[in-house]
Amino acid sequence: MPGRSIVHHYQDPLDLIWLRAAADLGLEVQRSAEAYASYDGKGTLTISVAADFDADDSLAQMIFHEICHWLVSGIRAKDLPDWGLSNTNNRDLIYEYACHRLQAALSTPFGLREFMAVTTDWRRYWDALPEDPLKDGEDPAIAIAQTGFQLAQKSPFESVLTRSLSATAVIADAVRGVAQSSSLWSVTRSRHRLGSLLSRSEALRCGSCAWAVSGKSGLRCRQHKPPGKIAPAVCSDEQACERWEQKLVAADCGNCGACCRQGFDLVSVSPRDPFRKLHPELVQLHNGDHIVPRPGGTCVALDGDGAAATPFRCRHYATRPKNCEDFEVAGDACLLARRRVGLSR
Ligand code: SF4
Ligand code: SF4
Repeated sequence: MPGRSIVHHYQDPLDLIWLRAAADLGLEVQRSAEAYASYDGKGTLTISVAADFDADDSLAQMIFHEICHWLVSGIRAKDLPDWGLSNTNNRDLIYEYACHRLQAALSTPFGLREFMAVTTDWRRYWDALPEDPLKDGEDPAIAIAQTGFQLAQKSPFESVLTRSLSATAVIADAVRGVAQSSSLWSVTRSRHRLGSLLSRSEALRCGSCAWAVSGKSGLRCRQHKPPGKIAPAVCSDEQACERWEQKLVAADCGNCGACCRQGFDLVSVSPRDPFRKLHPELVQLHNGDHIVPRPGGTCVALDGDGAAATPFRCRHYATRPKNCEDFEVAGDACLLARRRVGLSR
């Protein structure tokens, strides 16, 4: 019987996605048992062979990790061996940690944080990362990771990383349901059809979310409204995304106060607003307009600090300016103010 002629050979889809990512960033990937991961400063990444990987490692994660090293080390690090880092002592440990933070920040929105987690002995730092690995804090790696994140939003990184992480997430969506609990694929997370990760709670529904608003055209999600476009439709009984928030009512204002502090810069007071005569000591002229100022970010009429015993309260609530009176709890501006002070995402 004549031998079968084999034309096509099987390749791991994830390998293909991330080898293409590397290629599109000008990196050639070589495999060698001589090194776990190294970069020659001339465009060649050498990554170990699969037999030497940890069981939860993948070529995809290794390439992604090296791209993150490049990002935190700066665009010119492409011309430096191992991105300019020393592998023989702890001089550059901070850059390793910054790389972890960036890797977590970039993979989280795609539901891939655990799937794309760093491996080897570095894992302890990764596992201790907070939910937002780029949030300001004392760790000096944060500022480096933040700078790397900014670079990741620029060409060519942004399109390559978005494409590769999206494609990885699509595969995750396809295999999660058939993956055993011991499989790395089982730790990937589903996304809501509007893009955010699904809520971990199956009980939460879009219909009970603060971001959902009813209108003539049905229920719409303001959280996922693209700039300049109308908010997308949601169904009240579909499973919520992780951005779900409890519907806001007036009682929530006491521990919020966002609209009366850093959520907005000032309150303008129209010429006929009675507030001008009732509280002239609180009104100032600003660029030709009368305003109630916010020195240090807080309205001069605001009392309290948001604590249960001392909630935020307007000292002149009953006679507040018309603009404050018109302000709607749970309205678009309320949600914007809460976002600006970090109470909403
Ligand atoms: S933000 Fe709220 S309404 Fe929008 S998709 Fe998430 S849960 Fe649904
Ligand atoms: S931002 Fe909204 S919830 Fe917060 S105090 Fe203002 S109206 Fe109340």
